[in-house]
Amino acid sequence: MRQIIIIGSGPAGFTAAIYAARAGLEPLMFASSVGIGGELMNTTDVENFPGFPEGIQGPELMQRMQEQAEKFGTEVVYDDITDVDFSGDVKRVTSGDGVVHEASAVIYATGSAYRKLGVEGEEKLSGHGVSWCATCDGFFFRQKTIAVVGGGDSAMEEATFLTRFADKVYVIHRRDELKASKIMQQRAFDNEKIEFVWNSEVAEVVGDTEVTGVKLRNTVDGTESDLAIEGLFVAVGNDPRTHLVHGKLDLTSEGTIAVDGRSSRTSAAGVFAAGDVIDASYRQAITAAGSGTAAALDAEHYLAALDQAALAAAK
Ligand SMILES: Cc1cc2nc3c(=O)[nH]c(=O)nc-3n(C[C@H](O)[C@H](O)[C@H](O)COP(=O)(O)OP(=O)(O)OC[C@H]3O[C@@H](n4cnc5c(N)ncnc54)[C@H](O)[C@@H]3O)c2cc1C
Repeated sequence: MRQIIIIGSGPAGFTAAIYAARAGLEPLMFASSVGIGGELMNTTDVENFPGFPEGIQGPELMQRMQEQAEKFGTEVVYDDITDVDFSGDVKRVTSGDGVVHEASAVIYATGSAYRKLGVEGEEKLSGHGVSWCATCDGFFFRQKTIAVVGGGDSAMEEATFLTRFADKVYVIHRRDELKASKIMQQRAFDNEKIEFVWNSEVAEVVGDTEVTGVKLRNTVDGTESDLAIEGLFVAVGNDPRTHLVHGKLDLTSEGTIAVDGRSSRTSAAGVFAAGDVIDASYRQAITAAGSGTAAALDAEHYLAALDQAALAAAK
C-alpha cells in the first residue's frame, strides 16, 4: 500500500508530487493516458509563470515540472483513474487496466475543461488566435480587433478586461439578451470599445496559421455572414472534472470539489483536492501550483497524525 496517490498531472498534481516526494512519501501519480501535463499542453507561450522572464512554452513548463517531480522519487503512471473508493481508511483507486491501487491519502487534481464551440477551425487555431483565457492571453492582442463568444458573467468580464489591450472587442451572443448580471452587462454596454453581435453563433473559425475571422450564423433566420477579427476568446463555460467523485465528495454550487476553508481537505478524511477542480475563480497555473502545495502539506500532516495514532495504539 502507498502512502499517497496523486490523480492528475497538471501544475497542481506535479507541484503536489514535488512536495510529497521531497517529504519522502514516494508518491504514485496517475497522469492520465492522453491528457498528460494538463491544460498547459494546449498552449504556446506562457508569460505569467514566475521565474521565466522570457516566457516558456506550455509543454516545456510541464515537462520541467515532471522532471522535478520524478527527480525526487515520484512514480508517474500514464493511465487514467476510472473509479475511486474513499469510504474507508484505506483509499482505493482503480486504473484503466483494472488494477486497484491502495493508499492512505489521495490528492485529487483532475483540473477542469473549458467548454469548446465544436466548430471547424477552433482546434487548429487554438493558441494561434483562439483562446479560452483572457488573463492568460489578453496581452498578446494589443491594438487588435477581437471577439468574445458568450453571454454570461465570464464573457462580460473577459470582454471588459480585453478592452485594456484590444482596439475593438465584439461580443458574439446567440440570443438578444444576456445571462450576465445587470452590473456586468452595464459595464460592458458602457464600454465604447465593445460592440454586441446579437442572435449570432460562430459557425467556423477562419484562418490558415492565425485567426483572420469567423463565419457567423444568425440564430433567427439562419443567414451567414463574415466578421474579420484577429483573435477569438471562447467564454461559454468551464466544467470541473468531478464525474468520478459525484456522491463521494461534497461539491460546491459551482460544481467544484468543496474544501474546508483555505485548506485542501475534502469531505472525505484523507482525500485532498487541488487546482482548478476546486477553483471557480482564478484558474491559473500558478494558483493551481500553490494549491498543489497546500494539498501535499495537508496530506503530509494527515499521514503524520495517522502515524502518531498508530504509535499510541501500539503502546
Ligand atoms: C489554452 C489555455 C491556455 C492557458 N494559458 C495559461 C497561461 O498562460 N498561464 C496560466 O497561468 N494559466 C493558463 N491556463 C490555465 C492553466 O492551464 C490552468 O489553470 C492549470 O493548468 C490548472 O492546473 P490543474 O493542475 O488544476 O489542472 P490541469 O492542468 O487541467 O490538469 C489536470 C490533469 O488531470 C488529468 N486527469 C483528469 N482526470 C483524470 C483521471 N480520471 N485520471 C488521471 N488523470 C486525470 C488531466 O488529464 C490533466 O493531466 C491556460 C489554460 C488553457 C486551456
